[in-house]
Amino acid sequence: MAVPQHRTSKTRKRLRRTHFKLEAPNLVPCPQCGEYKLPHHVCKNCGSYKGRTVISNSN
Ligand SMILES: [Zn+2]
Repeated sequence: MAVPQHRTSKTRKRLRRTHFKLEAPNLVPCPQCGEYKLPHHVCKNCGSYKGRTVISNSN
């Protein structure tokens, strides 16, 4: 089994963990309905993608 040769210092450990953070997702307004959606994803509100309706909400 691989064993680390040196103990990771508090500073090294903390420096590594500076990247462990939550970030707000990038949201863009839907050109169809204006609802915020994830880029390159079908809009949850109106079901449109690239200017056409992909998912119909007639249920
Ligand atoms: Zn939409």
